[in-house]
Amino acid sequence: MTTITKSDIVIVGSGFSGTLTAVNLLSLGLGDKEVVIIDSKPQICRGLAYGTGDDNLLLNVPAGNMSALHKIPDHFLKYCQTIDPAFNEGSFVSRRIYGDYLEFTLIEAEQKAAKSIKRTSGTVLSVRPQVGTDHFCVSLADGTIVQALKVVLALGHFQPQSPLPSTQLNQISYISNPWDVSAFDHVRRDTQILILGTGLTAIDALFKLTSAGHKNITLMSRKGLLPHPHRATPKPPSKNSFPQFFDVQNLTVRYAIKALRESIRSRCRDGEDWRDAMNELRPYTPEIWSKFSTKEKKRFLRQAIGFWDIHRHRLSPVAYNRLEKLIATEQATILAGRLVDVTQQKDKCIAIIQPRGGDKNKQLSIGTIINCTGPNSDVEKVTSPLIQQLLSEGLIASDKLGLGILINDQYEVINANNQSVAGLHYIGPLLKSKYWEAIAVAELRKHAQQVASELLR
Ligand SMILES: Cc1cc2nc3c(=O)[nH]c(=O)nc-3n(C[C@H](O)[C@H](O)[C@H](O)COP(=O)(O)OP(=O)(O)OC[C@H]3O[C@@H](n4cnc5c(N)ncnc54)[C@H](O)[C@@H]3O)c2cc1C
Repeated sequence: MTTITKSDIVIVGSGFSGTLTAVNLLSLGLGDKEVVIIDSKPQICRGLAYGTGDDNLLLNVPAGNMSALHKIPDHFLKYCQTIDPAFNEGSFVSRRIYGDYLEFTLIEAEQKAAKSIKRTSGTVLSVRPQVGTDHFCVSLADGTIVQALKVVLALGHFQPQSPLPSTQLNQISYISNPWDVSAFDHVRRDTQILILGTGLTAIDALFKLTSAGHKNITLMSRKGLLPHPHRATPKPPSKNSFPQFFDVQNLTVRYAIKALRESIRSRCRDGEDWRDAMNELRPYTPEIWSKFSTKEKKRFLRQAIGFWDIHRHRLSPVAYNRLEKLIATEQATILAGRLVDVTQQKDKCIAIIQPRGGDKNKQLSIGTIINCTGPNSDVEKVTSPLIQQLLSEGLIASDKLGLGILINDQYEVINANNQSVAGLHYIGPLLKSKYWEAIAVAELRKHAQQVASELLR
C-alpha cells in the first residue's frame, strides 16, 4: 500500500553528511519547516564509517581535529572528556564513540532549537520532480512516498569497482563489500586471503581478520605502498595562507610535486615535520585542484595518487605499530602488483598476479579475495538503484574523470543538459569531482553548513 507524506526538506542518508546537514539546519533556524532524514540502516547518525561496534577500530584523525561543528573546534574533544577526562586533542578514539557523538550532536541541536527532525528507516529507490508542481517525490522501497520541496542526497560511499568481470569472480570466494565485515565470518582460517588494496580499508580488513585468528594474509596494490603514521603527538594545522609555490599559471602535476617536495625538504631542515606541510595544504587543496587542467588531473590520478594517499590518509600510531608487527611476524605480506585472472582448481583458487615491474606473472593459491580498492566514485558504474534512476533520467551527471557528481556552487546537482536542478542538492564524498579534498570530516562539516544555508535561502 502506498503511503504519501509531506515534508519541506528530505535528507536521504544519515551518515556524517546527512546528520550534519540536519544539525546545521536546526542551528540556523528552521522556523515551521519540517525535515525528514531517511536511511536504509536502522541506526541513524552512523553511516558507513561510524556504525561499528568494534572498539579496536579507531578514527584515523586525532580527537582535536574531529569536531563535527566547524565553529566549535573542541566540540568532539569535550564530548570525549565526558567519557574519559584523560582523552586529549591528540587521542585516537574509537569510531564507535564517534557514531555516538554524531547522534548526541543531533539531539543536542534538536534540544537547543526545540524542534525535532523526523527519522525514517527505509531505502530510497527514486527521487523525481513531480510534474506540474515544485515538489520532488521521494519513493521508498516499502511503497512510502514523501513529497518534498527540497531534497538532499547524502548517500555516502559506494562499493569498490570490481577488479575482474563478475563471471570470473563468481567461481571463487570473493567479498565485494569490504565494509560488510559479517562476510569475514565465513572465510576459512586454513587458507591464504588476498586483500586487494593497501590503504586504510585494507588495513581495517587485515585487523578484523587477524583478530579473528587468520594468519596468512596478502595485501596487494599496484605500488604496494602503505599509509604513513600520524605523529605520536599530532598537532592541529597552523593557520597559513595559500602556498605561494602553487600560485603559477598552467600548473602541472610534475611542477606541483617538485615544488611541494622542495618546500618539505627545506622545512624539515629547519626541524619541522612533513606532516605540517601536508596539513597546511589541506584548506587550499580545492583551489590547487581547480588550477589543474583535465589532462593534468588525469595525470595526477594515473601517476601521483598512490603517493598522495599514503601521505594524506594516515594511520594512528597504534594502528601503524600493529601493522608493523603483523608484517614482521609474516601474518601479513605486502605485494606490489595487479590481479589479472583467477581460476578454480579443485578446492583451490589460483590468483594470477602481474608483479609491478616484472614481466612474469605469479600464481598465488588463495581461499578468498576481499576487494578493498577504495570506494567507487564513478556514478556510471555504481549499482545503487537510486543513483541509476537519477542517472538514467538525466537528473545527475558524472564528471569526466569518474570522481563523482557534478554540482553548482549552491550544491544543486547538474543534470545531463548541463543545467542545475533547483532544490536537488548533493553532499558527501562525491564532491571530490569539484573539490578533490572532500571526503573527510574536516571538509564535510563546512560543506554541511553551506548546504544547510542554501536549503534555507
Ligand atoms: C571506514 C571509514 C573510516 C573513516 N574514518 C574517518 C576518520 O577517522 N576521520 C575522518 O575525517 N573521516 C573518516 N572517514 C571518511 C568518511 O567518509 C566521512 O567522515 C563521512 O563519514 C562520510 O559521511 P557520509 O554521510 O557522506 O557517508 P556515509 O557515512 O557513507 O553515509 C551515507 C548514508 O546514506 C545511506 N544511504 C545511501 N543510499 C541510500 C538510499 N538509497 N536510501 C536510504 N539511505 C541511503 C547509507 O545507509 C549511509 O548510512 C572514514 C570513512 C570510512 C569509510
